[in-house]
Amino acid sequence: MRVTPRSILIGILLLGGGCASLTTAPKKAAPGSGKTILADARYDFGGFLLPGNWYKGALHVHTTISDGKFDPLATAQMYRKLGYDFIALTDHVGGFRSKDKKTHRPLVYPLEVLNKSDFLVLPGMEYDTSRGGETIHFVVVGPGYDRHLRRGQDLSEALEQWWDGGAFAFFAHPHWSLDGTPVLEELTFLPAVEVFNFGTAQAEGLRGNSQLHWDRLLRQSRPVLGVATDDTHHGTDDAGGGWVMVRAEALTAEGILTALRAGQFYFSSGPTLHDVFFDVQGNVHVRCSPVAAIRAMSAVGRVVQATAAPGKGLREAVLKLDPKRWSASQAPFVRVECVDRQGRMAWTQAVLRLPAR
Ligand SMILES: [Zn+2]
Ligand SMILES: [Zn+2]
Repeated sequence: MRVTPRSILIGILLLGGGCASLTTAPKKAAPGSGKTILADARYDFGGFLLPGNWYKGALHVHTTISDGKFDPLATAQMYRKLGYDFIALTDHVGGFRSKDKKTHRPLVYPLEVLNKSDFLVLPGMEYDTSRGGETIHFVVVGPGYDRHLRRGQDLSEALEQWWDGGAFAFFAHPHWSLDGTPVLEELTFLPAVEVFNFGTAQAEGLRGNSQLHWDRLLRQSRPVLGVATDDTHHGTDDAGGGWVMVRAEALTAEGILTALRAGQFYFSSGPTLHDVFFDVQGNVHVRCSPVAAIRAMSAVGRVVQATAAPGKGLREAVLKLDPKRWSASQAPFVRVECVDRQGRMAWTQAVLRLPAR
C-alpha cells in the first residue's frame, strides 16, 4: 500500500487546516466532482483522515509452533505472496509449553530472518482459558505477549496489563466459542473484539461473524475496536480471508502497534474502503471498491443503507442520518459496513458520539 496523490492532498489539507486539530474541519476533495467537502475531523472511523499509508495485516496466525501446518518462515512467505504487508504469529500458548507442561519455552521465531524491509512480522500468542463454563480465547500481539495468564487471574486485569505494556489484544471468535454476550460485557477492560474470523467462517463450524457481541458493547458506548482475522492453521482454505488495513506513517513494529492501539484501521473480508468520514452537516461519505450495499449501522432501528442497482456495483454513497432520529441519546454509536455480492464485508471502527447538531 503506497501513498497516493489523493492521500498527499488530504495530508496537505489537514496540515494546512490549522495544526490538524481534532476540532477543526479540514477540506476534503470530493472525487470526480470538482467540489470540496468539509470533513468533520472530530469523528474518526479508523484513520481515514490521517496522512500515511494503508498496510494490510493478518493478526491471528498459527504455525508449527502449535497446531499450524507451516513453519513460521513458510507462513511469512505465504502471506507476503498474498500481498500482505505484515503478520502477527500468534500460536496457541500450549505450543510454548515444555514437555512437563510446567514451564514455558521462550519464543523461537527467527524474527530477524522473517522480517524484510517491505514485510513485517510481529510476535504474539493466543491464550485459551475458561470462566464459568465459557470457552475464552484471547490474542495478544507485541510487547509482553508472553507474559502468561496466571491460573484463575482476572481477565480484565490481565488484558489491562498486556495493554499497559504496549501490546494490542483482542477477544477471539466469541461466536465460534458460543460465548454469551455477558462474557464480554462483564469485562471491565476490553480493547478489541474479533468481529470476523475467516477460519471459523470457513470450516470450523461456520460461525465466523461476531458482530452481535461487538454491537452490544458499542450500544453501551464501550470504546471497543473490531478486527477481522484469518486464524489460519492450514494456509490453503483459511488464509487471506480476513484482515486489517492499518493507517500508519511507516511499516515498523512501533508504527503498526501504535496505529492499532489508536484504532487507526478498518477491517475486511473482501471490499476495500477508500474514504469514510462525516461531513460538517453530519452526513456520512463512503467510497469503496464495488459493493452491493453501503450501510451506516447504529442502535436498534437506526440503520441507513444505500444499495446498488441490479447488476451494478456501488462505489460511493452519502448516507444522510436524520438528526431527529439519530440524536446522541438514542444512537450512541455509528459504524459503516460495506457488503459485496459474495457476502464479503468491510467494517469501519465505530464513532461513539454522533456529531452534535
Ligand atoms: Zn482460538
Ligand atoms: Zn487461533
